[in-house]
Amino acid sequence: MKKLRRSAGHIHHDRTRSDLFESLHDDIVISVLCKLSSTASSPSDFISVFLTCKRLNKLGLHPLVLSKSGSKLLAVRAKSWCDEAHRFLKLCVNAGNSEAYYTLGMIRYYCLQNRGSGASLLAKAAIKSHAPALYSLSLIQFNGSGGLKNDKDLRAGVALCARAAFLGHVDALRELGHCFQDGYGVRKNIQEGRRLLVQANARELASVLRVFDIGAPNRMDIEFGLFSDYGFNFNLIGREMHPVNKFMVEWFGSREENPGPGLRMCSYDGCGRPETRKNEFRRCSGCGKVNYCSRGCQAHDWRMHHRVECAPMEEWMGHAIDDVEEEDDRNGDDEVMDDRPV
Ligand SMILES: [Zn+2]
Ligand SMILES: [Zn+2]
Repeated sequence: MKKLRRSAGHIHHDRTRSDLFESLHDDIVISVLCKLSSTASSPSDFISVFLTCKRLNKLGLHPLVLSKSGSKLLAVRAKSWCDEAHRFLKLCVNAGNSEAYYTLGMIRYYCLQNRGSGASLLAKAAIKSHAPALYSLSLIQFNGSGGLKNDKDLRAGVALCARAAFLGHVDALRELGHCFQDGYGVRKNIQEGRRLLVQANARELASVLRVFDIGAPNRMDIEFGLFSDYGFNFNLIGREMHPVNKFMVEWFGSREENPGPGLRMCSYDGCGRPETRKNEFRRCSGCGKVNYCSRGCQAHDWRMHHRVECAPMEEWMGHAIDDVEEEDDRNGDDEVMDDRPV
């Protein structure tokens, strides 16, 4: 009897709670869902909202909520890619979400090889000042991706890269610094190039120290040794891979024959970009065994792995990555792509 009474009380309590929820105005529920969609740490955080009840399912798909979805909510896994996932990203795109423009743009451009639609989505994100989209478009211009070697547009690459760098994108800062140092797509200005490289290093250091301050239990856990371009180094344990890069690494890692016969992946395992034609990426002149889509990827891979794997002679002779397609205009410069301590 006691048990029965207790369960009756429980039901009554639940009913009151559900009534309270029903009495909340849609605007309040939508504003809570907006907060959740922008801070969700994985898609499953939000899927559980959809499954809770019909009302949450409906309001969860409200354009305002979808427009706020953050990169982690949009983090589809390559092995879970399906029409449903594609449809959800499209809904977010239709709601004007620039993170969704970027994610779907990269997936369509590189994985589904739908270059036109992918590039157009990336451009839409870039117009909304989405720094990774601006940087990705700049690499497409620098590499002439999706076209022929002659389709490279260095000036457009520099312009896009400069905009991404202005918005604080560290890889874009580094790329731009090297462009100035090499006179690549812009008038050569070694001093300005060095200034930008120092700035890129300082920003990297700041981001590592920030993570370090929040999370690392012991300050000595971070290995300080070399700091990228100018003689310092430390492991970038604080660097977080963008979910779409994870997607691409997984996508191409799980399929044979991909990205296509004779086409290579960027050797930095945090990138996932494939070549869109043979010999599109530049290779390491030290060993000739690795190739990168960009300076940013070369710099990261050098610090993470490649400095201990590259040919030992390079330890003494300097280090560069060659553009195998463009011997004439890139290799002639003795400072190109030097990412070693000086
Ligand atoms: Zn790369
Ligand atoms: Zn090498």
